[in-house]
Amino acid sequence: MLETDFPKTMVDFEARFGTEQQCREYLARQKWPDGFRCTRCGGDQAWQLRCRSIWVCARCEHHHSLTAGTVLHGTRRPLRHWFLAMYLVNSSKRGLAATELQRHLGCCYQTAWTWLHKLRIAMAGNDPKPLSGTVEVDEAYFGGPRPGKHGRGSEDKVIVVCMAQKRGLGIGRIRLDVIQSAGFAELERVIRSNVTCDSRTITDGFRAYVGLGRSGYAHETRTVKGSGKQAHEVLPCVHRVFSLLRRRMMGTYHGGVSARHLRAYLQEYTFQFNRRAAKTVTHLFQRLMERVVQDQCLPYRAIVGGHMVYAAPAARRTRGPVRFAQPQTIHARSHIHRSPCRRAHKEPRPSPPYALPRRSSCSTRQPHCTSDLSQAETPFQLFRA
Ligand SMILES: [Zn+2]
Repeated sequence: MLETDFPKTMVDFEARFGTEQQCREYLARQKWPDGFRCTRCGGDQAWQLRCRSIWVCARCEHHHSLTAGTVLHGTRRPLRHWFLAMYLVNSSKRGLAATELQRHLGCCYQTAWTWLHKLRIAMAGNDPKPLSGTVEVDEAYFGGPRPGKHGRGSEDKVIVVCMAQKRGLGIGRIRLDVIQSAGFAELERVIRSNVTCDSRTITDGFRAYVGLGRSGYAHETRTVKGSGKQAHEVLPCVHRVFSLLRRRMMGTYHGGVSARHLRAYLQEYTFQFNRRAAKTVTHLFQRLMERVVQDQCLPYRAIVGGHMVYAAPAARRTRGPVRFAQPQTIHARSHIHRSPCRRAHKEPRPSPPYALPRRSSCSTRQPHCTSDLSQAETPFQLFRA
């Protein structure tokens, strides 16, 4: 439930969450909206340890950490830093780079990057309601200028599918996802996961979309070739979204987004785009806080490995362990986060404990999970030639 008296400006925000105690009280209300309840004895009375985010049950003296079982699990930084990071990431229209957060918080780059990525992952699944009505669908290729064929058929690029709901002449909600190939099966799977079956889909004349009509969708094809129009005139909504997305990737992140982490950036963009009409930033802050309290914390190694499995939005509503696949000897290949010491001594990087198996054996796959991005990933940086 959103709080109506929530601060609406940065000045008010700092006054409301300027101290650790203020942040603890707010987090406690989010974690126990119906009041404290001991998980061991069911008691509803507790007291707080001084200077710590721990509530002690008055009946059985069991300790309850405020951050346990949340995205903030195990953090050693002050809660008000996390709160400020959540405010900043939503207050910027162009997104927030890790270097900028690093300057705001005075932390190291790795901490800033990890925090932002945890928040991006928490943003996924915040909007479980699928798109409906009239939906434009198209795919784009991300990977910067490269020699060879452009657009469909280009090699070593990541395919991003955009589904944009039409609302009058404008855009309603959107969904973005990464797919392995632009074949019918892959496209249909993504569309089914994000668009209701009674929707009307509009695509270009690409042959992979031809079967959408047989899948139960009312399908309209708008061919660009021979129409005398540009692609962005035929399908204006999806092209506007792709254009804004590319500007953010180049302007804010300077193209330094690796293929394995692209989906998390898409989730962040989708979260903010679908709430662009919110009157205040704090609306996004509170929505994000809901996810932060409900979601589980991902270890840093699981994040940089890029092999975590995104749960389906509906499934994430229920609390439970984060689902990982069985370990596999896939080494983390992020050159940004490689330890200088390990690199100097050429020590082998230990295998990440959270790795995704091959596609055929992935038993944790969800309807919109395209986590096999890691399968063919290369350490190239998107948008850089
Ligand atoms: Zn108790």
